[in-house]
Amino acid sequence: MPIQSLNKRESALKKSEAQLKILSNGIFQNGELPTFKAKISETQQYPLKAKKLEILQINLGYMCNQVCAHCHVDAGPDRKEIMTRDTMQQCLDVIKKTGAHTLDLTGGAPEMNPNFRWFVEEAAKAGIQDFIVRSNLTIIRANKKYHDLPEFFKKHHVHVVSSMPHWTRGKTDKQRGDGVFDKSIQALKDLNAIGYGMPGSDLKLDLVYNPSGAFLPGDQASMEKDFKKALKEDFNIDFHHLFAITNLPISRFLDYLIASENYEDYMYALVEAYNPTAVKSVMCTNTISVSWDGFLYDCDFNQMLELPVNSPVKHISDYNENLLEGRNITISQHCYGCTAGAGSSCQGVVT
Ligand code: SF4
Ligand code: SF4
Repeated sequence: MPIQSLNKRESALKKSEAQLKILSNGIFQNGELPTFKAKISETQQYPLKAKKLEILQINLGYMCNQVCAHCHVDAGPDRKEIMTRDTMQQCLDVIKKTGAHTLDLTGGAPEMNPNFRWFVEEAAKAGIQDFIVRSNLTIIRANKKYHDLPEFFKKHHVHVVSSMPHWTRGKTDKQRGDGVFDKSIQALKDLNAIGYGMPGSDLKLDLVYNPSGAFLPGDQASMEKDFKKALKEDFNIDFHHLFAITNLPISRFLDYLIASENYEDYMYALVEAYNPTAVKSVMCTNTISVSWDGFLYDCDFNQMLELPVNSPVKHISDYNENLLEGRNITISQHCYGCTAGAGSSCQGVVT
């Protein structure tokens, strides 16, 4: 049966309060496991503080052509939250003056926002060092109107970052839906054909791996080797880097953990793999995440949990980088997902 968003299913977990309640109660309330706050306090890392901004991540909307099993956004075709052109203009005003070196557009499928191309054209003019678009690949093959996206990305020198949970059809389709693997392979070939991901090319194409079940990702460097070998041998596909990302226990992945009775074991695994040296580099320390309606969050995960920034500046229209720097970051038990093993961020391991 096709996967449906929590929103569409009218699941109790579609509400962020319900998710936060689960993360605060049970094994964390009865003392079986330490809270994230208690854990980072052991090494005097509480409160976690934001440093200088390096990455501005903007979520253009929760609509997506896919409904992946573990999506932390609860994205899908039924989601109607889309950034308006007015809010995009407010973002552009900030992009022109930000000290951040990286601009990262995400969703949902950001390309489904009707103003996506206008926004990319305008944002590219700011000349930010690294301009990322998180593309799910299948969107490129979903409809004729998207077939020229690789050329569009090339024209604006966009860095493409795409999810690819495995190099086999079975594992990919299980997590992301029937037919996703074949469309993703075709899209990767389209990107390679114009230079994306090719050795020595400055048209950057990176892939993102996240585990298909209740387990932590393996070593990023050896997985990258395996992915490169398999995609090259089987499909003659090239890409630059693989980012291994831990699934955070929120949204559809939290729903999956509970339904499969893996929630407690997974939280034990995250706490056991806690790495105190990863704390100083978690992505909230150098990132601001902007939601489709312009509100500011410490990261995309806090955005989905509706945990706003702890700062007098709450919205992109009042943006002030100096006031955001040094803020205390809002944490909960989902943060263990960022500090397990080598750590995890939107750009892979952090240590
Ligand atoms: S492609 Fe990305 S945003 Fe869309 S459902 Fe899958 S994980 Fe979520
Ligand atoms: S979930 Fe967000 S706030 Fe928590 S550690 Fe990770 S990046 Fe920071």
